[in-house]
Amino acid sequence: MRDIDEVFHIPARRCKRCGGLLTSSKAIKDGYGHTCKMKTRKEELEREEAKNQFSLFEEGKE
Ligand SMILES: [Zn+2]
Repeated sequence: MRDIDEVFHIPARRCKRCGGLLTSSKAIKDGYGHTCKMKTRKEELEREEAKNQFSLFEEGKE
């Protein structure tokens, strides 16, 4: 009889954004799942853009 009652220990952590379980070594390193990492990066870019737009607006006021 084969022993199928094996218990695997794999490294895992929770996504910092959605709390989902991450099991890939890359996601564990990043702290985000693939989708959440892209979303977070997009938000960061949008924030940067908004900042730039704001400073342009400020400069053009005079
Ligand atoms: Zn996530």
